[in-house]
Amino acid sequence: MIKRILVYNNEEDRKILKQKSEKVKEIDDDIKNLIQDMKDTLHAINNGKGISAIQIGVPKQICICSWGGDEYILINPEITRVRGEESYLEGCLSVPGIYKEVTRYQKVWCSYTDENGEQQELAQGGRMSDIIQHELDHFNGECKIYSE
Ligand SMILES: [Zn+2]
Repeated sequence: MIKRILVYNNEEDRKILKQKSEKVKEIDDDIKNLIQDMKDTLHAINNGKGISAIQIGVPKQICICSWGGDEYILINPEITRVRGEESYLEGCLSVPGIYKEVTRYQKVWCSYTDENGEQQELAQGGRMSDIIQHELDHFNGECKIYSE
């Protein structure tokens, strides 16, 4: 189901967006439904590159990162290694119409749980690395595109 995306310029939404997200303990039906809602919501947006569960109001460590035809569903992701730096012009679904230059690690290595509960590793550079780092900020209640 397509959900409304919370935005920083709404006070009630902002309180939720600033919450820290909790680790997922078990991939039960609620989590599967949440992931489906996140997919539906992201895919309904033209050129949507990433979404975290908190952006539809659920403080769980799940994000979807999408770039160049690849899509990762990351549950409880942890960045284990990084390399280099690069700056990207970033936007955020929760900060519509605003783009900012943000410096990120050029490449990240990440361990995560997939939708089937399997432990996985990825290594990604360039824009996908940027998107992963952006979505992980949301787990800490942060977004570099929003400034108070
Ligand atoms: Zn954001």
